[in-house]
Amino acid sequence: MVQIPVGQEYTAVAEVTVPRTVRCEQCRHEYHYLMKRRATGSGTSVLFLDNQGASQRAQERAADAIHTIVKTDCDPVPCPECGWYQARMVEKLRRGYHRWLIWVGAVLLVAAAPTFAAALARSVLSENPEDTSARNLVIVASSLVVAGSGLMIGRAILGRRFDPNASDPEERRRIGQGRSISKEEIEERLRAETGEEG
Ligand SMILES: [Zn+2]
Repeated sequence: MVQIPVGQEYTAVAEVTVPRTVRCEQCRHEYHYLMKRRATGSGTSVLFLDNQGASQRAQERAADAIHTIVKTDCDPVPCPECGWYQARMVEKLRRGYHRWLIWVGAVLLVAAAPTFAAALARSVLSENPEDTSARNLVIVASSLVVAGSGLMIGRAILGRRFDPNASDPEERRRIGQGRSISKEEIEERLRAETGEEG
């Protein structure tokens, strides 16, 4: 097979490290940490007619994507004084809690569809009344649906029950101290980023 290129795809990567300031909901202590994020954007130059424009679009899309992430995202950094994970951090940790179970559940559900289709095809095509393969396939497909949805529901319940603030406060404080940086470091960083003027 001969492949004829019909254009060029450009991908741009944007990477930022932004300072975050947090006021602890529990003890009112103010602390700071650095959040690193990376996003990609792409642009296509159809028939190679707009390579520069496509490259620029890719960069703009990557910049837009990173802008949105930076505006809304946070890292789970507990308070270095009392160890408290703030409400938004808890929400984020809950969303990510055993997330792989969602994927396994989805794979099982997706696999159920062709299994049902195969069962249907067998029951239509089979002329032997003794042939139980269609029924067996229906049992397999139903089990896939039950297991898949069970995993997804179970994950949702586990996630909702998960309380990061229930773990050892000493350990949480240590995590917070490891990630937080001083106000002076933040200011120094901002000065460096906005150029040396002023
Ligand atoms: Zn605190």
